[in-house]
Amino acid sequence: MTRPYSHRKSQNQRRKLDDYLCQFCGSDENVAAHHIFEYSKGGPSTVEGMVTVCRRCHLKIIHADSEIEIEKKENEITTAGKGGK
Ligand SMILES: [Zn+2]
Ligand SMILES: [Zn+2]
Repeated sequence: MTRPYSHRKSQNQRRKLDDYLCQFCGSDENVAAHHIFEYSKGGPSTVEGMVTVCRRCHLKIIHADSEIEIEKKENEITTAGKGGK
């Protein structure tokens, strides 16, 4: 799957909006924009559909457990389901 330029632009915007800080633990190491709604499942490539996370949280919290759900409203992020561990 190819990702359009607008996608990368949105990721950069997301990181900037989140001050380049992980929205889970506050780390500023290896932060990246994660899609709250999976891109492969039709999630929007917009800043609203992303959240900035560090690589550790990205792998350990988000992708390690597919049952976790992330919801982002305004400046608040809530997670539901079994995550982490
Ligand atoms: Zn983190
Ligand atoms: Zn991700």
